[in-house]
Amino acid sequence: MDEFALIRRYFQPLQRDDSSVCVGMGDDCALVTPPPGQQLVISTDTLVEGTHFLPGSPAQELAWRLLGASISDLAAMGAQPGWLTLSLTLPQADPHWLAQFAQGLSAALDCYNITLVGGDTTRGPLSLTAQVQGWLPAGSALLRSKAAVDDYICVTGTLGDSRAGLALLSAPDDQRVSEPDRTYLLNRFYRPQPRLATGQLLRAFASACIDLSDGLQGDLAHILSASGVGARIDSALLPRSAALQRWPDQQHALRWALAGGEDFELCFTVSPKRWPALAAQLAEHPVAVTRIGYITDVPGLWLQQHGQWQPMEAGGYNHFNRQDNR
Ligand code: ADP
Ligand code: MG
Repeated sequence: MDEFALIRRYFQPLQRDDSSVCVGMGDDCALVTPPPGQQLVISTDTLVEGTHFLPGSPAQELAWRLLGASISDLAAMGAQPGWLTLSLTLPQADPHWLAQFAQGLSAALDCYNITLVGGDTTRGPLSLTAQVQGWLPAGSALLRSKAAVDDYICVTGTLGDSRAGLALLSAPDDQRVSEPDRTYLLNRFYRPQPRLATGQLLRAFASACIDLSDGLQGDLAHILSASGVGARIDSALLPRSAALQRWPDQQHALRWALAGGEDFELCFTVSPKRWPALAAQLAEHPVAVTRIGYITDVPGLWLQQHGQWQPMEAGGYNHFNRQDNR
């Protein structure tokens, strides 16, 4: 199968009728029209076999993860997804792999209401790149740089599940984790749930926002350095799923909630003044939001555990930075 037959067979069918798309796949460029008055929001993510996923990972799940991770970046800015371009580097044109990948991608495109408009297909070691573009009302984007002293720090959903799912992949025979917990945690690893609706709601309330791809500790640090502030968070308040609370090693569970990575939840700050209005909106919102701490003018990230405050990088906590966190 040549490159063009491959594109026609597996990717052309994924194009959807969309009034914003003047020219989709098949020309040198895609041609799209954003809604009037909106700013374009653009993000790219790459998954490399052996670096971001284990060789032999199910192609369908890779499609969900690839798109989920990219869409999560749009969610963090408060954007609405519009268009996707897809760059695939494949070792060979394996029809089974391609059919599975296209099936997963098709479902994910429908789920996030985003349209495939083009891409590139090359031969080489397996690598998948998604570029997503979306939009939001001009000037309304949520940035990392606007957190202010005394703001509350909040996160969506639960933390650490995805990292526990990854641990299960390398210990498939671990009898200590029940079948339902195993299914839940693996699903959290394979199928990020980008918090699009939450991000769009937060545009009117949050001072700063980031999506959690590298883990709370590292990603919150990006908000802190971009905003020139520090933070205090309480380890007891970190939201952990029932499955993670049942995880056999609770030290691991806490470390993963702090620094496991690939949660694809949102971490945001909001001023105490705006919090009551946001909390009222969140009461009717399907995604749980948890207050875990607050912004201070003392630099660095401080963690409260068992009644004691510790700087995250120092002393007993440098094990959070160990290589095997990921
Ligand atoms: P060019 O050589 O002009 O860059 P290509 O031959 O690479 O164009 O691709 C032909 C068309 O197919 C283009 O419109 C491109 O966007 C689309 N395309 C190529 N690969 C993919 C893919 N993996 N997914 C979606 N569209 C693709
Ligand atoms: Mg090309």
